[in-house]
Amino acid sequence: MVFFGVQLATLKPRLIVPYRFLKASRARTSVAVALALTGSALVACAQSGGNGAAPSRAAAAPASYSPAITEADLRRRLYIFADDSMQGRDAGSVGHERALTYLVGELTRLGIKPAGVNGYYQRVPTVPRSRAGAAPADTSWSRNVIAVIEGSDPTLKAEYVALGAHSDHVGFSRRPVDHDSMRAFLQAGWNAIGRDPNARGPSPEQRASIRVNVDSLRTIRPARLDSIYNGADDDGSGAMALLEIAEAFATSAAKPKRSLLLVWHTAEEKGLIGAEWFMDNPTVARNKIVAQINIDMIGRGAARDVKGGGDDFITILGPKRLSSQFDQWVRDVNNKQARPLQLDYEFDRDGHPQQFYCRSDHYHYARYGIPIAFFFTSIHEDYHQVTDEPQYIEYPKYTRITQYLHELAAFTANQPNAPVIDKPKPDPNGTCRQ
Ligand SMILES: [Zn+2]
Repeated sequence: MVFFGVQLATLKPRLIVPYRFLKASRARTSVAVALALTGSALVACAQSGGNGAAPSRAAAAPASYSPAITEADLRRRLYIFADDSMQGRDAGSVGHERALTYLVGELTRLGIKPAGVNGYYQRVPTVPRSRAGAAPADTSWSRNVIAVIEGSDPTLKAEYVALGAHSDHVGFSRRPVDHDSMRAFLQAGWNAIGRDPNARGPSPEQRASIRVNVDSLRTIRPARLDSIYNGADDDGSGAMALLEIAEAFATSAAKPKRSLLLVWHTAEEKGLIGAEWFMDNPTVARNKIVAQINIDMIGRGAARDVKGGGDDFITILGPKRLSSQFDQWVRDVNNKQARPLQLDYEFDRDGHPQQFYCRSDHYHYARYGIPIAFFFTSIHEDYHQVTDEPQYIEYPKYTRITQYLHELAAFTANQPNAPVIDKPKPDPNGTCRQ
């Protein structure tokens, strides 16, 4: 999910707080010493469990991936894709390319057909980040990853149901923070501000209680400096859901009638650049894409993350903006689930101040008149923070959402007709306004 002016206004004051807190806290000495030692070097934060020990990923992981969409597979994939070694996946950076290597390695292993320009890849020009304090991109280009699972119907296989996620995130900072203090402050700030726009931020009493909590953590482990924006939810969750969905289709004997177009867009965080490039320079016939399902941040949305949140909560945007029929399919397939999700349309409202409809890759499909459905478990306190890590993902719910989206893709690809468009198409060269 791309950062937006409206978010900056809310998040900036909160971002400043943790540094002030660090100065005042007992962590000061160790942080200062560590900073002096590390200079501006990249500081990783071990993705630890609650006991403070970093778990061995190899020991926790299953022996191999299962063809089905499973919680164990999603967890294992996400811990790899959002690992500190990917350095926050800033589009075009060495870390991002490493993440794409994992992705392409899996597609190759699964025998899924490449559909880019150069194998799975499509080169996309990007611009280096200008955000102060962020690492500049290593190159001024990056890559979309594109694959196709061919349909089984001789005629309908010429049409595509597209599924998308974004592979990039925002990289790393040169100003490390203590992970635990940051998280404690973000949670308090989120409870006070994020969910209630009229609140004023943590009170002196709340600050004191945060300090007590962090101090008690200090008795079991030292300050853990963190500078990497792992983007586990944003959009590691979508990217790995898409890979699990691809695996499920590729390993199943029964293929849907229409083909499935799988696109891991790059540079979403720089302004939806990869999706814009792909739709302006498509590698399949654009007018044969009958629908697009966009998956960007589906790993959170618990009650503590969002008002009205919980184990079934997910927000949905977009389908009824072009096709009432596609919107109906989205709800029908959900209702057929053993435990249906609670599809929340609040963010899809015209004129919603967050403008989420304009803030992820699906918009570039919609501007060409393709019906889209955008799934997202909402903004949370770790959004675009170093604390967006795999250890905070709601795995059972993430798994159910992924299974549902797999079924939605199959259902859409098997319908006799493409979703009927009954609303006016936008101007492809116009500006997005929700
Ligand atoms: Zn984002």
